[in-house]
Amino acid sequence: MGEPLRPITDLSLDELRAVMRDLGQAEYRAEQVAGWVYRSTVTSFAEMSNIPKALREALAERFRYHALEERAALLSTDAETRKLVLSLPDGELIESVLMRYPQRPDGTGSERATVCVSTQVGCPVKCAFCATGLMGFSRNLSAGEILDQALYFLRWTREHPPIVRNVVFMGMGEPLLNYDATMSAVDRLVDTRCAGMGVHRMTVSTSGWLPGIERLIEDSLAVRLAVSLHAPNDELRTSLVPLNRRFPIPQLMETLHRYQRATGRRVTFEYTLLDGVNDSPALARELVSLLKGLDSHVNLIPMNPVSDLPFQPSPWPVVDEFHRILRDAGVICTVRREMGRDIKAACGQLRSELQKRERKSA
Ligand code: SAH
Ligand code: SF4
Repeated sequence: MGEPLRPITDLSLDELRAVMRDLGQAEYRAEQVAGWVYRSTVTSFAEMSNIPKALREALAERFRYHALEERAALLSTDAETRKLVLSLPDGELIESVLMRYPQRPDGTGSERATVCVSTQVGCPVKCAFCATGLMGFSRNLSAGEILDQALYFLRWTREHPPIVRNVVFMGMGEPLLNYDATMSAVDRLVDTRCAGMGVHRMTVSTSGWLPGIERLIEDSLAVRLAVSLHAPNDELRTSLVPLNRRFPIPQLMETLHRYQRATGRRVTFEYTLLDGVNDSPALARELVSLLKGLDSHVNLIPMNPVSDLPFQPSPWPVVDEFHRILRDAGVICTVRREMGRDIKAACGQLRSELQKRERKSA
C-alpha cells in the first residue's frame, strides 16, 4: 500500500487551480469544486453534478474528499453537545465537539452553534489538569485535517440547524505550535470562495506560546485570541501550565499589551477553576490587578474532572464568589456554561477512554 491520499482540503485555492491546469481543465473549475467541498452537504466527488465525470474521477484518484472518519460519537443528555472521536488517514485519533446554544427560556439571545476543533494529536505542553496533555504528543494536524472537523459539522448542521457560525481552536493541541496549518485552515474557513465564515468568529486559544502571538501581531489576522491563564502569578501558573517557565507572566502580559496596541482587539482569558488550587478570593484580587489597563474578558471555566488526575471542580459558591470579585472590580467576566460534562467534554477524555476499551478487548 502506498501513502494515503491527501484530503483535497489540504490544498489552497491556488493549489487547486494548479491541479486543474495540470489536468487540462479551466481554472474556474477550482472554485466550483471548492463550492461543493466547503459549502454543500455532499461527501464525495461523484456527487458534484456540475463537474464533468472525467474530472470527478481524476480528482477521486488523486485526493480523498475528506480526511476524517467517525469512530465514536456521544451526545450529552441535554442534546446540545455532540462529541466525536475521528480517525485520521494514518489511524491517529482526535476529538471535535459541536456545541449548540439554544435561545434562553425568556426568548432572548439567539440560537447558535460552535465547533471546537483539534490542531494536534495530543499536546506537548502537558498542562497538569488536561486529559490531552496526559497522552503526550504524536504530531501536528495538516490544514485539511483541521478544516475537515469544521466542515464535518457544517455539513451536519445544514441539515440540523442552527448552522455552525463559530469555530474555536480549543480542542486537542496547542494551535500556535502548529501555526501555519492552523492559519491556512482559518484562511479557507473565511474565504468567501470557500466556507465564507466571519473572521471574527474564529477564536484561537493558546497556553501562552509567545512566538505564535508575535506572528499573529505581524500577520495582523483578525481572529480572536484567547489565552489560557489559570493563575495570576508565576509560581502557581508554572505548576499548572509548564510552558510558563519558558514564557512567564510578565513577558506574556507585555506581549498581550503589544498585541492589543497593534490590533485594538480585546483579549479573552480562560481560567479553569480547580478546587482549592486557584480559586481563592485572594487570587481573584491578584487577577484583577494583573489585568489592569488591558481590555480583557475573563471566561471562568468549571473544571471537567479527568480520571487519573488529582483535580476537582470548584464548588458553585466558590465559582460565584470568584466571579463576583472580578465583576465588582469592573472586569468583564462570564462563567462558561457547563456543556456536556456527562459526556466528558474536556478534550482528550473520550479518546483516552476509547483507547483504554480497545486495549482491554484486544
Ligand atoms: N492548547 C490550547 C487550546 C486547547 S485547550 C490552550 O491550552 O489554550 C482549551 C482549553 O481547555 C484551555 O483553556 C484549557 O486550559 C482547558 N482545559 C483543559 N483541560 C481542562 C479540564 N479538564 N477542564 C476544563 N478545562 C480544561
Ligand atoms: Fe495542551 Fe491546552 Fe491541554 Fe495545555 S490545556 S496540555 S496547552 S491542550
